[in-house]
Amino acid sequence: MTFVIAGSCVSDYSCVEVCPADSIHPTPDEPDFMAAEQLYIDPRTCVDCAACVEACPVGAVSDAKDVAPRLAARLQLVNAEYYEYTSRRG
Ligand code: SF4
Repeated sequence: MTFVIAGSCVSDYSCVEVCPADSIHPTPDEPDFMAAEQLYIDPRTCVDCAACVEACPVGAVSDAKDVAPRLAARLQLVNAEYYEYTSRRG
C-alpha cells in the first residue's frame, strides 16, 4: 500500500514541495503540468511519510489503506498508470 491522489486534486503543487522523495508528478516545471487532470504519486518511490496529506489544501491525498478497498485499488491504478505511461514515453 502507498499514498494515492484522488480526482479531486486541483493540481495545487503544495504536495510536490513537501515530498522528500520527489514522488509526485507532474511538477510545475514539467511539460505535462498544465494539461494534467491531476497530480500522481509514484508507488515505486513513495516512502509513506504522509507529508503530502497535510499539505494538500483540498484533502485529495490519502493513505490507500484508509480508503474503501475498491476505490483504493482504482486510485492506485490511476496513480501508477501515469508513471507507466511517462516511462514508456521516455
Ligand atoms: S507520502 Fe511522503 S513520499 Fe509519499 S508521495 Fe506523499 S510526501 Fe511523497
